[in-house]
Amino acid sequence: MPRHASIGALPNQWQPAASIDHAAHSAMNAEKRAEIFRRLHAANPAPTTELEYATTFQLLVAVILSAQATDKSVNLATRTLFADAPTPQCMLALGETGLAKYINRIGLYNAKAKNVIATCRQLIEQHGGEVPRERDALEALPGVGRKTANVVLNTAFGEATIAVDTHIFRVANRTRLAPGKTPLAVELKLLKSVPDDYKADAHHWLILHGRYVCKSRKPECWRCAIADLCEYRDKTRLYEDRTQ
Ligand code: SF4
Repeated sequence: MPRHASIGALPNQWQPAASIDHAAHSAMNAEKRAEIFRRLHAANPAPTTELEYATTFQLLVAVILSAQATDKSVNLATRTLFADAPTPQCMLALGETGLAKYINRIGLYNAKAKNVIATCRQLIEQHGGEVPRERDALEALPGVGRKTANVVLNTAFGEATIAVDTHIFRVANRTRLAPGKTPLAVELKLLKSVPDDYKADAHHWLILHGRYVCKSRKPECWRCAIADLCEYRDKTRLYEDRTQ
């Protein structure tokens, strides 16, 4: 059963929790962090990836293909690809040239085709055709780095990992939830500071928040559910946007 999810509507009108004393908590602290995740959870209780897949192998391939590409473009390609080649064995049989024909609308498709075929071969030769659930084994697969391994460990195996992509990196720095100069620094800070109850889903909440609300060029602060907790200095207001 293919899985996909939508963010659902974040509430336009939110009510700050009465227990938060904003004057007394000007710096990001544990109470603010917990309230941020409480609200993200309330708006979307079961967040997941927007990549479409039916098996862990297909999730792995979709994540490899999604580097520097939109989930939408990956889904368009994989709907046909996964129907024709659902397993590592079938995909390996396509070869690099055959696979490239399915994914040629995705950026860097030649390099990705090469990595996916090499990954299929490695899965078959070293892991009995299954996706391993150990980080080291995942990161040893061609085209799989720490971020991809984190997504697979979190989304397929339910581990409390946090894959820091461009959206999470931006949201963590703007809000001051977990400021850091590199994705790894942000990841480690988030792992340390996100309340345990929210850790497994933090990755998807922050990605979706960055993709749909805290957008790169113009964050939509006027409808942001965590605006009063966020420490970004240049928050946007709806009135200013309409008059620009
Ligand atoms: S208030 Fe604005 S900058 Fe802060 S998290 Fe919300 S959208 Fe992003």
